[in-house]
Amino acid sequence: MSETLATTILPDAQENPLVRPWQTPLETPPFDEIKPEHFLPAFEQAFADHSAEVAAITHDPATPDFANTITALERAGKLLTKVSAVFYDLVSAHSNPAILEIDKQISPRMARHWNPIMMNAVLFGRIAMLHENRKTLGLTGEQMRLLERTYTRFHRAGAGLDDAAKARMAEINERLAQLGTGFSHHLLADEQEWFLELGEGDLAGLPDSFVASAKAAAEEHGMAGKAIVTLARSAVETFLKTSTRRDLREKVFKAFAARGDNGNANDNNATIVEILGLREETARILGFPTYAAYRLEDSMAKTPDAVRGLLERVWKPARARALSDRDALQALVAEEGGNFALAPWDWRYYAEKLRQAKANFDDTAIKPYLVLDHMIEAAFDCATRLFGITFTERKDIPVWHPDVRVWEVKDRDGRHKALFYGDYFARPSKRSGAWMTSLRDQQKLDGAIAPLVINVCNFAKGADGAPSLLSPDDARTLFHELGHGLHGMLSNVTYPSLSGTSVFTDFVELPSQLYEHWQERPEVLQRFAKHYQTGEPLPEDLLKRFLAARKFNQGFATVEFVSSALIDLEFHTQPASASRDVRAFEQAELEKIGMPAEIVLRHRPTQFGHIFSGDHYASGYYSYMWSEVMDADAFGAFEEAGDIFDPATAKRLHDDIYSSGGSRDPEEAYIAFRGRDPEPDALLRRRGLLETPEAA
Ligand SMILES: [Zn+2]
Repeated sequence: MSETLATTILPDAQENPLVRPWQTPLETPPFDEIKPEHFLPAFEQAFADHSAEVAAITHDPATPDFANTITALERAGKLLTKVSAVFYDLVSAHSNPAILEIDKQISPRMARHWNPIMMNAVLFGRIAMLHENRKTLGLTGEQMRLLERTYTRFHRAGAGLDDAAKARMAEINERLAQLGTGFSHHLLADEQEWFLELGEGDLAGLPDSFVASAKAAAEEHGMAGKAIVTLARSAVETFLKTSTRRDLREKVFKAFAARGDNGNANDNNATIVEILGLREETARILGFPTYAAYRLEDSMAKTPDAVRGLLERVWKPARARALSDRDALQALVAEEGGNFALAPWDWRYYAEKLRQAKANFDDTAIKPYLVLDHMIEAAFDCATRLFGITFTERKDIPVWHPDVRVWEVKDRDGRHKALFYGDYFARPSKRSGAWMTSLRDQQKLDGAIAPLVINVCNFAKGADGAPSLLSPDDARTLFHELGHGLHGMLSNVTYPSLSGTSVFTDFVELPSQLYEHWQERPEVLQRFAKHYQTGEPLPEDLLKRFLAARKFNQGFATVEFVSSALIDLEFHTQPASASRDVRAFEQAELEKIGMPAEIVLRHRPTQFGHIFSGDHYASGYYSYMWSEVMDADAFGAFEEAGDIFDPATAKRLHDDIYSSGGSRDPEEAYIAFRGRDPEPDALLRRRGLLETPEAA
């Protein structure tokens, strides 16, 4: 602690519930006391504290060592981490106009705060010196990894550049932060502004559970007594699968596909052009030929060619399968006397019909057995059987919305391990999609800190207190997000920046996607899939048909995904000048890969929040598939052991993957778990793509 650098205390800081110590049970954020007006002063206090802490490091006259530089950096910024975690949870899960306005102001301010730290020449000099001498410092494995990651982070942010280049980088970062926030606000606004009111005659084909949630959605929109379709993905997908009204399917589909591309105030085209230009400039300043080359250097894949190699390997059989499926769907249209060419808004509807005909299976038949509460129990139970942890609901923890539930997680010996927040239902104040995040990360730097982990989903709420019923996709999402959650909750590292999910983007989906495998197992479904009215377990033959139907329509799903990943890669490998007309670029790229005309990108550019709301998945959308190669292969370890809860395999999974966070090299961690490199064919087999007409 430096005497000369007294921290400024801003007025009213002690009254601010974000700043003063939290007296709540387990020191959780006091959501019931936090108001939007608390954020800006709390952020200013946090920025001031953090800057003073960093200045104390750079002004330290002692020779740089691991403790006074790297560890000190890890300790710095505690208040900023706290305030940010609460703020971004609200921005994404429960925003309002005041919060969104603060978000707009704070995102460039945040960049202005971080730039001088990440580009501080004195600080980087200390880090670089330690990095240079790292072999002689007597570091533990985790400390070595932390030093390497810290050096790489600063180096890649431009800490080694000259002053002019640094100044330009700072400008770019600030502008990119602003653009990313603008992108997601536009998208949210376009999603919120649109809905389709369903009259009595518009309900044909729709399952009761859908109609009930359409009524609940209308009520949320202040239209009690009516029913509406919103642009939440789960609502759109169910509507497209089941509505017999082709005209309405077309309307809903087109609105969904046009989000952010409507030429209104929410249009994202110009935002994309500017983002891509600035990213290209960043890459050049840092000495890389393209932004993708820059991003991928710091990943498991390492190069754009390696990514393209994987995507192309999957693309060919997936496209072939999709085309043959398309012909089958077109034949079904003809059989029914339809005199039209299959359009994108028909695909899900006829695919569902074909699935019912072929596999004699229908999503709506299984939905009554997939009660949200039972599926939560199932997901928890798998974690108990694999890792020995238990979940107990707590009602005394403040939350940001009354629908949020909290569980205390304890380890095998009954010791407190984490709190888990589940925020499951769609509402207008929530972004679409599903995600995991945290309010506090695990670490042991100054005593054991237990994590506060969040899962957010967008499931339809049951109307009038009826239980929420999940589609098979929803149930998979639930397990997926708990997989990320476990990565956060089981984390067992010393340093906060290596905690839990702080791993490479193309590794981070391994714990989540791997966890989905348990959801699909008969051992799990037989116990937890029970009819919401009768309590009767999922009938054996329905279960069999459900499992058989899993591989159905995988050509479509894979094409939707891989085309999005390829276009992400193209955006970031081609010169930015090539994509000045975003729509034309999209069109040209889809033609190049032979995209079937009846399928649209899973994320069209103007709604591709993964790559434009921030840079986290920019040229990184392939990561899901990269991780899938590993998860398909990793689950094989349990199958080979003959028990999906095999204790020895589960222990390795815990030690090498779920608890090690970013403290190890991911390739080395995977090999430690599996005994070898991942074998990619497991993915194609799982998706049923090895038996395509082309590959056969
Ligand atoms: Zn995920």
